[in-house]
Formats: sequence, structure tokens, C-alpha cells
Amino acid sequence: MAEITMTPIEPHQAGGLDIVETGVSMLGIEGPDWRCGHCGRVMITSMKLDAIKVMLAYKCGRCEGLNLVPGQG
Ligand SMILES: [Zn+2]
Repeated sequence: MAEITMTPIEPHQAGGLDIVETGVSMLGIEGPDWRCGHCGRVMITSMKLDAIKVMLAYKCGRCEGLNLVPGQG
């Protein structure tokens, strides 16, 4: 399965975005795996995040860094 490294952002860049707490991990059914752009941890497994039209910031459960889906920013 494909792995995609997310685009790391700083908290001040997330102004106005909804923040998704990924916790220990988020597990979907189908799609690529998503790595935190700050620490490299796989935060989200098998989800088509690029199919979500709303721009969201995903918070890593380990380093608490915020990430965007690449290409959305
Ligand atoms: Zn992280």
C-alpha cells in the first residue's frame, strides 16, 4: 500500500482549519497510509484523505505536530 508523507505546518498556519485528532492511529478500509511530516510516524492507515474536499489539519498523536494533505495547502 502506498505511503504518503503529509505536509507539516506550524500551529499559526492552521488558523481557521478544523483539527482532526488522530490519537494513537486512525484506521480506514481503503487508501494509502499517511505519515506525519514532523516525526515520520504513520498516523492514519488506509484512508482516502485526498478524497475529502474540506481542508483539515491532522494532529499527530505522538509529536502533536499539525499536518495537511499534500497538494491541498
Ligand atoms: Zn508526528
